[in-house]
Amino acid sequence: EAAEIPLELHGIRREMVSPAARKVCSVLQEAGFKAYVVGGAVRDLIARIDPKDFDVATNATPEDVRHLFRRSRIIGRRFRIVHVMSGPETIEVSTFRALHDDNTETDEHGRVLQDNVWGTIEDDAARRDFTVNALYYDPTTEVVLDFHHGVMDLKQKTMRVIGDPATRYREDPVRMLRAVRLAAKLDLILDPEARKPIREMCELLANVPAARLFDEIIKLLSSGYSVVSLKRLRDEGLHHGLLPLLDSILAQPMGERFIWLALENTDARVRAGKPISPGFMFATLLWHEVLANWNARKEAGEHAQPALFDAMDEVLASQAEKLAITRRIAADITEIWALQPRFEKRSGKAPFRLLEQPRFRAGYDFLRLRAESGELDMELPDWWDAFASADTPEREALLISGK
Ligand code: ATP
Ligand code: MG
Repeated sequence: EAAEIPLELHGIRREMVSPAARKVCSVLQEAGFKAYVVGGAVRDLIARIDPKDFDVATNATPEDVRHLFRRSRIIGRRFRIVHVMSGPETIEVSTFRALHDDNTETDEHGRVLQDNVWGTIEDDAARRDFTVNALYYDPTTEVVLDFHHGVMDLKQKTMRVIGDPATRYREDPVRMLRAVRLAAKLDLILDPEARKPIREMCELLANVPAARLFDEIIKLLSSGYSVVSLKRLRDEGLHHGLLPLLDSILAQPMGERFIWLALENTDARVRAGKPISPGFMFATLLWHEVLANWNARKEAGEHAQPALFDAMDEVLASQAEKLAITRRIAADITEIWALQPRFEKRSGKAPFRLLEQPRFRAGYDFLRLRAESGELDMELPDWWDAFASADTPEREALLISGK
């Protein structure tokens, strides 16, 4: 039995829900189904944070949903959901599911591999990870259904796992990362029961498929709360599992400064509503690894330019095994890195050609971060700043002969 939390207590007016999500709920309800906004969006609205996206949960099957919305498609195999497109938005609609029973397929470490048994709304709430994520908001009545005291936990600033934390982490080790990341974002304290098993269980992250970890890293980096999240992950010893190389980078003073600066920058951009590129973020995270590799090659007598390309390839290849960085993102990363030595040529035609590079801006932002972290003199990005904003005769005057 759910507690029915009224508007006065949760504060979510229907206008705070996106038009598309409201539309999806009302169409489903008019067709006789139950439909609620669920999960992160409800949690964020109660915490007065702008939700990233809106998810809807319903007792309609994916086929039912598919038939009610012309612009929709069923996606996912392990976890079938429907994407409903409405105006510029895409709403994820999922059917109420039950927690697996004893016959559920798991891997040899107990990780649950499939998840498609339909259930009641109570079942659906129970299979979710945290109490604050098991809230169902009905835009029609403006009531929140709360099965696990999530509203109270949120108000008391506690992050609590639904069920036995160790069991839930074994079923899906990514929940450990989610616990820490979401607690950081919402400024909640991780309940001691939820926190305790993490130290012993963090090794289970090694069995999570690389693509899943990659999604999780992208979420973390693009949350607008990457600095606090990463610091909290480090406190819990969870950053090994997330980004194996982070250890070695955070151990070098220069690398550490560079990464925090880059992430502070990214967080500021996200919170100002500006776009961020995964390529740029990974380029910063991996840069000091590239630098070390590049320097070793130059000391061994390799020429600077080919040495840089070899270093880039080696670093990306070593990360690829664990991270599943997509080809497109890898190409973006490489482009940003490859531009770096070109910023050092400040004579002749080279600076003019560099300005015309489509990726000039990203390369320049990266250069400035390197200088701010102490790797380079600020004189170089300042020069490029002046050069980029000058007119042609002024640019000619700025060129440095022989450099
Ligand atoms: P974010 O702000 O990062 O989107 P979120 O909680 O909305 O956070 P989603 O990945 O969008 O995260 O998931 C939507 C909902 O699905 C969650 O609120 C939670 O109820 C449920 N959920 C997501 N991942 C898991 C998981 N690993 N185990 C159990 N439930 C999960
Ligand atoms: Mg979400």
